[in-house]
Amino acid sequence: MASSTIELLKEELPVKQESLVLSEEVKTGLVLVDIVNGFCTVGSGNLAPTQPDEQISGMVDESVKLARVFCEKKWPIFAFLDSHHPDIPEPPYPPHCIAGTNESKLVPALQWLENEPNATLRCKDCIDGFLGSIEKDGSNLFIDWVRNNQIKKILVVGICTDVCVLDFVCSTLSARNRGLLVPLEDVIVYSNGCATFDLPIHVANTMKDAIAHPQELMHHIGLYIAKGRGAKVVSEVSFSA
Ligand SMILES: [Zn+2]
Repeated sequence: MASSTIELLKEELPVKQESLVLSEEVKTGLVLVDIVNGFCTVGSGNLAPTQPDEQISGMVDESVKLARVFCEKKWPIFAFLDSHHPDIPEPPYPPHCIAGTNESKLVPALQWLENEPNATLRCKDCIDGFLGSIEKDGSNLFIDWVRNNQIKKILVVGICTDVCVLDFVCSTLSARNRGLLVPLEDVIVYSNGCATFDLPIHVANTMKDAIAHPQELMHHIGLYIAKGRGAKVVSEVSFSA
């Protein structure tokens, strides 16, 4: 997609982004959405990048940096891992992130998180992690995590900006507005900590039933919709001393 077209659309659909400074005073949790091989590691299945991807590797780097700081500070982390039963498809997507395979595991740069006591890992078999947190008994692991840690802000990173990140953010905002997530106040999306996949129109046109998905534009639209629903979008995250 021509960069001039993207610039024009960004002018028509602006997303004003702020800088976020986190401090000990306001309890903040980090939410990592689907930073698994099946979406992030070149060649790892049907929905993984087919070649090195700058936006995706940048997202992984930023997420790893944040996860390290949160762990040092012993602040809570909640990580979703897309993970499907081999016999249960997830239309419209081809088979991906089958449970027990490398595709549904955290990327190598984040695998240490599996052993961190302040990290809660949640396998989910649907797009929206909020729904994917519902347990058989009707309780919700994500709601419990917010309540048990008394979290006031969540910082959301991961993939895809306009799919799993967006759906989780929208459901979380609705749940917050319905009083299900007390004391949560802010849902904050870190733009450089998010990424989406790239399927340019000239490639989509050669495939059956594929919908074009230009990466930079769809990433922007994901942020735009999240902001419109009430999320904060930030382009910088720092920690006060
Ligand atoms: Zn999935």
